Amino acid sequence: MTTRPNVVLILTDDHAAHAIGAYGSIVNETPRIDELAHGGAVLENCFATNSLCSPSRASILTGTYSHVNGVTTLVTPIDAAQPTFITHLKAAGYRTAVVGKWHMGDGDGHDPQGFDYWDVLIDQGEYHNPRFLNPSGLRVEEGYATDVITDLALAWLETLDDQTPWCVLIWHKAPHRPWEPAPRHLAERREPVPLPATWDDDLATRSSSARRAAMRIADHLTAEDLKMEPPPGLTYDEEAVWKYQRYMEDYLRCVEAVDENVGRVTDWLHERELFDDTLVVYASDQGFFLGDHGWFDKRFMYEESIRMPVIMSYPRRLPAGTREEGILTNVDIAQTVLDATGIDAPQRMQGRSILGAIEAGETGRRDGFYYRYWEHDDVFHKAPAHYGYRTDRYKLIYYYNDGLGIPGTGEFTYAGEWEMYDLETDPDETCNVVHDPHYADIARHLRRRLLREQRDVGDRRHASDTEERWEAQLGAGAEGTGS
Ligand code: CA
Repeated sequence: MTTRPNVVLILTDDHAAHAIGAYGSIVNETPRIDELAHGGAVLENCFATNSLCSPSRASILTGTYSHVNGVTTLVTPIDAAQPTFITHLKAAGYRTAVVGKWHMGDGDGHDPQGFDYWDVLIDQGEYHNPRFLNPSGLRVEEGYATDVITDLALAWLETLDDQTPWCVLIWHKAPHRPWEPAPRHLAERREPVPLPATWDDDLATRSSSARRAAMRIADHLTAEDLKMEPPPGLTYDEEAVWKYQRYMEDYLRCVEAVDENVGRVTDWLHERELFDDTLVVYASDQGFFLGDHGWFDKRFMYEESIRMPVIMSYPRRLPAGTREEGILTNVDIAQTVLDATGIDAPQRMQGRSILGAIEAGETGRRDGFYYRYWEHDDVFHKAPAHYGYRTDRYKLIYYYNDGLGIPGTGEFTYAGEWEMYDLETDPDETCNVVHDPHYADIARHLRRRLLREQRDVGDRRHASDTEERWEAQLGAGAEGTGS
């Protein structure tokens, strides 16, 4: 009988894969996260099925899609009584804990359940001297959130004897907006970073609803985000670049503290000779735009937003230096943890374990995955709800545009808009080809796959998504793209 592994799931918030060395970052270094990657597996194509904080957390915990676990947006708190991989671990004798950002509601049945120890931030949480809530009530912990969360998690581990396996969730706030670095990193000088290849994307072929999102670095970062006013006398373009550098400086400093604290956890495991028998997962709840397409934030079904960095270390079972390229999602993580611990996944879970694929070196068994961003036109980001399907080569997206005003007209539209990208010829997704006759057959095929997968996971299509409108859009040329 093999030893049941301990489990550490370090989850960060909005840490883009392209700000991690092991994923080829050109803007920073993450030596401690990379160390885990070199000794374990890097999942190249793991995606969030709803690129937003609370929904991704709920999918990770429950192994289900948003429409099943009920956490579709930031204002739909979790029914914490539903089964999670944690409740199954606990039932199998594991000791369980969560420390840090919960952000799926508090009180009234939303507080963490199934944990021997829980100690969580309130809502989004604070970077400095954060408030924590646990069964004893609310208190303030002095210090920097990323450090304090690690302190509390390690302190709980110190209370355990070494007989019973355990699982701890170390869920950071960082590097979420408003990107406040640790005091020790403020004095460090950071060199300017390169502009992303799609910085100047004019979004010309996208849907009108994608273009109206209030996520542009040039226009929508606030003085609170940037912590200072831009220097006077800059042109519009110069000021946009200045904002990008200021944003990246703080974002990457927040990542630096995360990286150091990942190192504290791995050091702790090594010191106790527990590292080889522990499944350590480093992941972010979704990706983030780092100036890509001129944006910050996430939400959209575009690559930088949906790609989750996921690194798994479990030396006893996983070969070092593995790069797994198959399509995986946040819904798969719960079953993967249960598989690693030898516990059968319950019927309700909708994903699959990825351990077998990593161990056997097989890739890409899943044809594609279903995505749905449910939050619609929120007041801060104005990002529209949409759904879509992504294969290893193509991506089809439907914006249903419920009740959105048509820019510049004072009128409202209920007409949906489609986008499609060929990721092989256009990996940066700058050219929407849904109206291109050369792609018509592929588009029809993708839509069938989308509707089938949507039905198979128990979701329903939007009322505006009709065959007539779809066929009309396919032949509509540039019409409907607003150009
Ligand atoms: Ca997030």
